[in-house]
Amino acid sequence: MLDATTWTPLDRSRLQLRNMEADDRLTVNRLIRWQRQSVARLILPGERVAKCYRVRVRELVDVMRSAKFKRAHYGGLFTCTSVWSCPVCAAKITERRRIELQQAIDKSDGMGIKYFMVTWTLQHTKQDSLRDVRDALGVALRKLRAGRWYQGFADQWGILGNVTGSEVTYGSEFGWHYHKHSIYFTRQAVTVADLRTMQGELSLKYRLILEKMGRYAHPIIGVDVRAGDSAVGDYVAKYGQQQAISNWSLAAELTKGSSKNALVGSDHFTPFELLDLYLYRHDDGSLFREYAQVMKGQHQIRWSADLRKELELDPEITDEEIASVQDEDGYLFAQITIQQWRRIIKREKRAQVLEVASMGDADLFQKFLQLIS
Ligand SMILES: [Zn+2]
Repeated sequence: MLDATTWTPLDRSRLQLRNMEADDRLTVNRLIRWQRQSVARLILPGERVAKCYRVRVRELVDVMRSAKFKRAHYGGLFTCTSVWSCPVCAAKITERRRIELQQAIDKSDGMGIKYFMVTWTLQHTKQDSLRDVRDALGVALRKLRAGRWYQGFADQWGILGNVTGSEVTYGSEFGWHYHKHSIYFTRQAVTVADLRTMQGELSLKYRLILEKMGRYAHPIIGVDVRAGDSAVGDYVAKYGQQQAISNWSLAAELTKGSSKNALVGSDHFTPFELLDLYLYRHDDGSLFREYAQVMKGQHQIRWSADLRKELELDPEITDEEIASVQDEDGYLFAQITIQQWRRIIKREKRAQVLEVASMGDADLFQKFLQLIS
């Protein structure tokens, strides 16, 4: 039977998070994001994330508060807008992208447009670098979608376009796992049998292309096609946001018995969990550094040409634009002096300051500032 000593600190924190009330879990997740960002700074001292929500762009730091959401956020600070390497910016950007995808789904429902989901993966070993795996999958998918074969496939199934998200995880056994999720939009109603047929056709073509590149995808799971459901937006946009926790079933883990396999689920890490590994001294930071270098500048979500127009959506806004948007009903709750901010930074209290400000009690907030000064 599993006991406490079987679990790493990361396993335990996942377990604790699962058992928390929803509100507490949100709070802890926010605190973890700031903590992880501080860890990312240690691993990537020369990158933008190292300055994010630390460096002032004005004399005073604003603490803005939304009365509606009872949440506080900072103003007057530099933000790095890196969806891959900054846990704080990524949370904001992916949430906005998720809402955008949900709008696309809702629009489609209203227009009678159907959708389904495809996941693309390929086989990899621990010897593969993330760049190799990323490039192989990217090239294979580009080739598949560029040819005349694909045009025929798209015409046959009434496909309007796709939106594709990229995701990275790391497993101790097989190394970097890079995959892409696509939502395909189609004018035709598709049955379960149609989905199976499409999976067969896509898989055959995809595996042929990979084979020529000296790569391999599993005949059954290399291309996975499934019907669209209400979680379709999360599916593509969820990138890096605690999915390991939300998908991670303790019951499933425990029912696997007491063998070493019981920890397989916890042996797979999202990139931001790699930061936790570094913090717990299980890793020297080289995995996260490799990941940040390879993914820098890559689109996390890509819309195929004209799809947004077909779905009558507004033009896509950039990650930078998303990161700079503040809550509309935010008011200026407090201002922090340079000296105070320096102490907050030094003592790593940026997240806690926001949590206290979120309560909305100005006296309490000032007392807290004095306490940490
Ligand atoms: Zn950032």
